[in-house]
Amino acid sequence: MENEIYDIIIIGSGLGGLAAATLLSRKGFKTLVVERKGRLGGRFSTVEYKGFKLPTGAIIIPDSWTIKLLKDLRIDMSYLRPVSRVYYRINGEDYEVNVDIGLPMVLDLIDKLEKEKEQKDGRKIKPVNLKNIINGYLRGKRGIKREEIFTVHDWLLQFTENEKVHEVIDNLCAALMMAHSWELPVLKFFKFKEIKKFYVSSKGNISVANELAGVVKENGDVWANCPVKKIAIKNGKATGVVVEKDGKEIEVKSKVVVSDTGPKMTVDLAGQKNFDDKYLEDLRVRLRPSPSLLVFVASDRPLVLEGINDGIEIMMGGRRIRTVVPISNICPELAPSDQHLLYSSVEPISCIHPVDAKCEIQQIKRDLNEMFHDFKKHGRILKIKACFSENQCPEGWTWLGYGLPLETPIPNLYNVGDACVALGLIGTTGSVESGYRMADIIENKLNNKK
Ligand SMILES: Cc1cc2nc3c(=O)[nH]c(=O)nc-3n(C[C@H](O)[C@H](O)[C@H](O)COP(=O)(O)OP(=O)(O)OC[C@H]3O[C@@H](n4cnc5c(N)ncnc54)[C@H](O)[C@@H]3O)c2cc1C
Repeated sequence: MENEIYDIIIIGSGLGGLAAATLLSRKGFKTLVVERKGRLGGRFSTVEYKGFKLPTGAIIIPDSWTIKLLKDLRIDMSYLRPVSRVYYRINGEDYEVNVDIGLPMVLDLIDKLEKEKEQKDGRKIKPVNLKNIINGYLRGKRGIKREEIFTVHDWLLQFTENEKVHEVIDNLCAALMMAHSWELPVLKFFKFKEIKKFYVSSKGNISVANELAGVVKENGDVWANCPVKKIAIKNGKATGVVVEKDGKEIEVKSKVVVSDTGPKMTVDLAGQKNFDDKYLEDLRVRLRPSPSLLVFVASDRPLVLEGINDGIEIMMGGRRIRTVVPISNICPELAPSDQHLLYSSVEPISCIHPVDAKCEIQQIKRDLNEMFHDFKKHGRILKIKACFSENQCPEGWTWLGYGLPLETPIPNLYNVGDACVALGLIGTTGSVESGYRMADIIENKLNNKK
């Protein structure tokens, strides 16, 4: 095995790595995926916990590049359940929002509720000025650059101070763009590509990862439990990896090495001295790992959206909890038969500053007690998982619009995954799309050498 030459070695079996590996394998290139853990999929995987099947990161699969990949590879998708309804809980009431109208409809709803409240309470409320916001938003989407230097929050202040409107927009930024509205430049916000339909895997995301690994194995190998210790660099070029396999370190050679581990780890594995200052500076500026606390709540009755099996809910007015996915409403298979499971990926107060995990957990607990009337009686926290860059598991390696190039300064060495998202994309969608670009670059490179 030591001298076997693969066309491509991919370090890490995250979605970006697996997307590139499957596409290259189907194009006829001999591909090896090496994964340090025993399970595949990285932040798109599943762990068994007290009878529940818990996601390691992503739960919602947007109807975009991941679905395209499964279709292109002709992988069975019958176990993916559609999620097409979005609800807002405002002042304790649930309102369904037509996803085709999206943001304008939410703002319109808030406008109406605020006016009702104003009449009822006889108290003046800061006006929403809906028309101006929508026009400003559409102008921004058309690419007007006047607002370039503003954060989303500052841009919105031009139109309204209304706290609820600011909360809606911040929810959107934190949940979908990896940074708060007071952190993200508005120009990046305007580039976001909206997706209106989603899926949840009823067998857990690990099934999707395993199906993808099956495709790689048609023309290559997938090694789990094999941490890469080093990317071999000879005469300034990447020539393979040193990997621990069955307790021994071996060198495996390849024409190209692709790292799905995040660019910082790539630099560590290949040796910082091999990268130029400009590249390292780019990493410092553009890598913005977004922290998250993954909250799983178990209960003996549904805590939200009872009887609705294709919806998610956005909770307004809380401290930390925003979007909640009632996983077991959509896929009862992921919880024991008499139990329900709620998922929320919670952004801390800042996506830049170090997280005070203890304080964040306190705020989450307060939210749970106040937001869900049945929580005290029927629910319990199953698990809270810290998804921070320190444990190699941020919600995203960078924010919307900050993706790094796939190429590195070292010939034959590339990055893939959500640090390399294209403009407007994020999460699983961005990771898979980076895998498509990666496969094209490598195909051209290796075919031109033949
Ligand atoms: C809490 C949370 C919630 C999220 N929610 C959503 C969501 O609902 N929808 C969505 O679209 N996206 C979501 N995301 C983002 C999504 O999960 C990621 O963008 C995507 O899965 C990242 O894929 P990746 O290709 O970058 O690789 P990763 O998933 O980061 O995989 C990298 C792999 O490399 C392996 N590795 C690392 N070092 C080595 C080494 N030395 N040797 C061998 N292997 C190594 C790791 O073990 C891992 O398996 C969420 C993420 C988190 C954390």
